[in-house]
Amino acid sequence: MQILHPFAGPIQQYLKNMSDPDRDRPQHCPQCQANQPLVGHGFYRRTLVDVGFDGVIPVRRYLCRLCRRTVSLLPEFALPWLRASITVIALFLIARLLQGLTLAAAAIAASQSMMPYQRGQFWIRRFRQQAPALSLALASLTAPAAAPDLVTRALQMLESIGWIVAHRFLFADLRAHLLGWPDFLAPQGRRATLGPVAPSA
Ligand SMILES: [Zn+2]
Repeated sequence: MQILHPFAGPIQQYLKNMSDPDRDRPQHCPQCQANQPLVGHGFYRRTLVDVGFDGVIPVRRYLCRLCRRTVSLLPEFALPWLRASITVIALFLIARLLQGLTLAAAAIAASQSMMPYQRGQFWIRRFRQQAPALSLALASLTAPAAAPDLVTRALQMLESIGWIVAHRFLFADLRAHLLGWPDFLAPQGRRATLGPVAPSA
């Protein structure tokens, strides 16, 4: 299961903080509610594209001794299963869907001038599908904007709340994804195959 790393700040700071497993160690298990600190369980690595960063970041994992399941602490600037950071996707969607720029110009606005245009189209398609659910879910954080359509309304609400703040709320409280969960992780971002980790001998 992925939960959000309490860290808020630039990637460079996140990478620096990674060396200390005690720093953000969960004090209880989010999956079985065992009331004991989780034990460090290494890292997994994932790719991330952000403004000024394109590389691999470590994501810290912890293990619950009671239910033998792992929890990973995803930094809040990253989205599950998507390479691009929230900032990159937000810059692109705002440029394309609110400001009406071309796909190429929107990619430049998101500092992704070399990205294949299909990637942007994919984000747009996913976001359009999510917009009704997003404007509904975010209504508890901000008043719904008067907008000509649900896509514009959702974008304006995200802009007023802040994309990362909104993501934190959606993901941590509702297990909802800004661009919707893919089928293989639906409905709540849990892999169907997720199971207990075999106890180590
Ligand atoms: Zn547990």
